[in-house]
Amino acid sequence: MNADLHCHSTVSDGQLAPTAVAQLAQSGGVTLWSLTDHDEVGGQREAREAAAALGMRYVCGVEISVTWASRTVHVVGLNVDPACAPLVEGLARTRNGRAARAEAIGERLEELGIPDAYAGALRYVSNPDLISRTHFARHLVESGRAENTQDAFSRWLGEGKPGYISHRWAKLADAVSWIKAAGGEAVIAHPGRYRYTQLEFDTLFGEFIDMGGKAIEVVTGSHTPDQYGEYAAVARRFGFEASRGSDFHAPGPGTIAPGSLPPLPSDLKPVWERWL
Ligand code: AMP
Ligand code: MN
Ligand code: MN
Ligand code: MN
Repeated sequence: MNADLHCHSTVSDGQLAPTAVAQLAQSGGVTLWSLTDHDEVGGQREAREAAAALGMRYVCGVEISVTWASRTVHVVGLNVDPACAPLVEGLARTRNGRAARAEAIGERLEELGIPDAYAGALRYVSNPDLISRTHFARHLVESGRAENTQDAFSRWLGEGKPGYISHRWAKLADAVSWIKAAGGEAVIAHPGRYRYTQLEFDTLFGEFIDMGGKAIEVVTGSHTPDQYGEYAAVARRFGFEASRGSDFHAPGPGTIAPGSLPPLPSDLKPVWERWL
């Protein structure tokens, strides 16, 4: 089983339409796929149909932006019913603040000597409800203010950088409850990316379990290979099931293609076993 349960399309901050991501996944050997756009399930029908046409198993997915202890955590919902009202309404509320936040990022960048960043970012946005920092990053790269997307975050857009505007996303308990209402499983995405203390991590994982959370991502394009081992150990310690996904956003050098990461450590229980 080559499962890739974390990918993005033009429905959020990815560069390819759902069908094109499905084709890349299939050609990369993926046999179980999920498209997990940020805060949005508008691509699920296209993704499911494309997966069926290509002979891949599919589970509907979403990656929800959450604020926990004043920082952003991403929670992936897998095997959700994308028509479930509490999920659809919760995601709509989560997306709500993005437009004003983007204007604020644009104003901040303007103060920093980068005019027209808001208009520039908008040129890369396909879904007007989902303007993301990634769209600003593309503009910063294209206009020569950053070497690549990663550099745009390191210089301008990342937490604590001059172009960073803090934002309140969904509550963890709400995100988990929407996913559960939609019949899905909640997965803490790329835990290695969060700058929490050990105590905060333990509290986060404990609260997540109390809410009914069962899994974390272990092998993800947003972890270093060292972090695969580190979060495999966390999964063992907390009894979490494990997930795997590229976190694919765009093709190109330095990006991880769907299906191309190593398998999960064999002693971990894959979150997808229940769906096979
Ligand atoms: P937003 O939801 O608007 O805050 O944007 C978050 C998105 O920015 C993430 O989903 C990633 O796609 C991207 N991102 C965040 N940090 C980085 C980074 N350090 N390098 C590259 N992309 C990043
Ligand atoms: Mn993203
Ligand atoms: Mn994420
Ligand atoms: Mn992601």
